[in-house]
Amino acid sequence: AVRDTAGEEGCSVYLVGGFVRDLLLSVPTQDLDFVVEGSGGQFAQALMRRMPDGKLTQHFKFGTAQISFPDGSHLDIASTRWEHYSFPGALPQVEESCLRDDLFRRDFTINSMAICLNTERYGELVDYYGGKQDLQQRKIRFLHNLSFIDDPTRMLRAIRFKERYQFDFAKETLDALHTAIETGVLSKLSVERFTEEILLIFKEANYLAMGQILVKSGLFKAWFGEELAWNFDLDNAEESLDWSLNMRWLISVSQMESAGIEQLLERVSLNKSLRDDTIAYLNLRESLMKPLTLGEMDRLLNKSPKEVVMALARDERFKKQITGCLEAAQRINMSLDGKALIEMGVKQGPEIGEILDWVRTAWLEGKISSSEEEQGIARQ
Ligand code: ATP
Repeated sequence: AVRDTAGEEGCSVYLVGGFVRDLLLSVPTQDLDFVVEGSGGQFAQALMRRMPDGKLTQHFKFGTAQISFPDGSHLDIASTRWEHYSFPGALPQVEESCLRDDLFRRDFTINSMAICLNTERYGELVDYYGGKQDLQQRKIRFLHNLSFIDDPTRMLRAIRFKERYQFDFAKETLDALHTAIETGVLSKLSVERFTEEILLIFKEANYLAMGQILVKSGLFKAWFGEELAWNFDLDNAEESLDWSLNMRWLISVSQMESAGIEQLLERVSLNKSLRDDTIAYLNLRESLMKPLTLGEMDRLLNKSPKEVVMALARDERFKKQITGCLEAAQRINMSLDGKALIEMGVKQGPEIGEILDWVRTAWLEGKISSSEEEQGIARQ
């Protein structure tokens, strides 16, 4: 459909960026990014006529369009020439730039290649900046010296791609990365963009190795203003493949003091789920420092998110306590509930909750082990 639409519209269309990189590396890829030399808006609209189940969203300000499909997949279309409408009905302002410039604005050589999709040049690789050679030589190389200054998120992207593909940095790129860290370029970066990039790292299979570089290179210190005790233990590499994002995050902060975690929360803009879990983690950890009865411990674990409990159960200081309590809780086979207590003559009110807690604690402590004993203890 893309090829036919390009023919009809008389424009050149290319697949670009990560798709081309991953195709040449023969690794699976998800996103399809197109660049149109010509009017991207017109192209996207024409393409829509061949894709009846697609939904078109155009962002005129950024010169991009997205066609999304009911199965959740989408195509991104950018344009080297785009009409800007300053108000409805105004004549379009047209900005022109060619593919070469578009590719030069990208982050690394391996991400700056394009594949032409027009019939007469179908499958032709456009590689102005030596991306293919860098892929072969396994190098992460910027396109120009000011790259990290122009956009400091590229520093984090560089580390992500390096470790994802197990590449090396080209010498000048590594030097520029260190210089950028030292000269405080990160201060130009917003908390939101920094967090976004960090979380992309935490989603990578190899995030522990990436985290180690973030610490060792001083990038984290430069951003947070001081050294925090991050935990990116490579011994967890295999297990961590099954951990959710929240679990990975909680484990990574597990060696920090509470004050450090609180400071961290001020320097990142986490989504609600991550933020709430981090606060629940801090609270539960504080509570576990104090002596607790089995019943108190069970109540605390029950009201904390599962991942928070799992993360703290990996902490040597609390491992025995938590696993002991969880094992005891597994033995509970409670049949008594509020309704049964009312039938036994207990008045509706707080007493019901107290009795249920009491019976549960008796189960936990191994004082009862059957429903007859349960009834007996409840009657007391
Ligand atoms: P991933 O496999 O992680 O999705 P990707 O290369 O597809 O990798 P995207 O973030 O989707 O990553 O970006 C698509 C393309 O846009 C990149 O390949 C690169 O060419 C360009 N790009 C993305 N972010 C930047 C940036 N900060 N600076 C310059 N170019 C960028």
